[in-house]
Amino acid sequence: MTDTNLNPFGGFAIDFGAGSAPVGGEATALSLADDAAPHASQVLVLGSGPAGLTAAIYAARANLAPIVLGGHQPGGQLTITSEVENYPGFPDGIEGPDLMARFRAQAERFGASVIDVEVDRVDFSSRPFRAWAAGVEYRGDAVIVATGASALWLGLESEERLRGHGVSACATCDGFFFRGKEIAVVGGGDTAMEEALYLTRFATKVHLLHRRAEFRASRIMEARAERHPQIEIHRNVAIEEVLGDPSITGLRLRDTQTDARSQLAVEGLFVAIGYRPNTGPFEGWLEKDEAGYLAVHSETHSRIEGVFVAGDVHDHRYRQAVTAAGDGCRAAIDAERWLQEHAPAEAVAATTG
Ligand code: NAP
Repeated sequence: MTDTNLNPFGGFAIDFGAGSAPVGGEATALSLADDAAPHASQVLVLGSGPAGLTAAIYAARANLAPIVLGGHQPGGQLTITSEVENYPGFPDGIEGPDLMARFRAQAERFGASVIDVEVDRVDFSSRPFRAWAAGVEYRGDAVIVATGASALWLGLESEERLRGHGVSACATCDGFFFRGKEIAVVGGGDTAMEEALYLTRFATKVHLLHRRAEFRASRIMEARAERHPQIEIHRNVAIEEVLGDPSITGLRLRDTQTDARSQLAVEGLFVAIGYRPNTGPFEGWLEKDEAGYLAVHSETHSRIEGVFVAGDVHDHRYRQAVTAAGDGCRAAIDAERWLQEHAPAEAVAATTG
């Protein structure tokens, strides 16, 4: 592995284009160099996970020609997920990147423009609302914030040093590199279970490390991991240091009950300990709840009229693709109704197209 094409989640960036777009032809990423790329719309969607792209499908079908700014990980967290088994309509499961390519193709089919840039700041002080990405200004008469959440890291210096050299947060992206090796996954939620199970396709053995005795994961996932002959579960252990140079050779562990230290020889570590909401550009504009997620008032409305919130950037309770998609639908319907009641700002009409 190399560091060069690591995505911000720690895995390898996935090509979200041609090869993986099974519906409606190739997903067409618009770039800033493309002069034809629109810069203003009635609805500006920030984020391109299930929430953002569902919002775009609904807004596009309402003839609002939304612009979607795709974010640092076009397609969102599902693009670094393995098989999705619980998204309705796919009885045999579907790979996360394939599912998101379908969302995108569907949004584009109805006229959404998806631009793969990351918003760095916004100005929500007046309409049209404004957002900047890579120095370019985009405007929307209404905005749907669906920027999702990003994977968390343990915060160890050694973890950071060995990222891309055996340490990853994306089994789907990097699992292949661990064929025939013994590896570890840290975490006690569904993500950790899913990563551990997926990695058994490649690794000879997967050590699942959790800092407590009880798992946070759903019973079905926990039971699958417990039953799997290639997975060994270690309860009450914390990782103190990732060992190895230039690549990982093991972990220094601490028993969280007895404080006893031990070492575990592994050639890979997958960090699967949860997420933080991507709220950075909205500091000072949108309210957050006590957990740091964006707050909503009355369905999907933020505290700023005309700015709506959907998906994992707001939801720390359900955090499912299907609930995010439902949220995106609600936000688009709320935005459409709000736009009907509030005539589009002249500035938008003047700059659209
Ligand atoms: P999560 O449920 O928040 O679990 C995070 C786990 O990581 C917890 O067990 C936590 O330990 C542990 N952890 C957190 N910080 C840590 C640290 N610094 N060091 C060591 N361990 C640490 O996150 P998630 O597993 O990513 O799941 C998030 C949501 O997505 C959940 O709602 C889940 O159901 C959903 N999800 C669903 C599926 C599925 O249905 N197929 C798949 C993936 C995710 P503690 O338990 O001690 O706090």
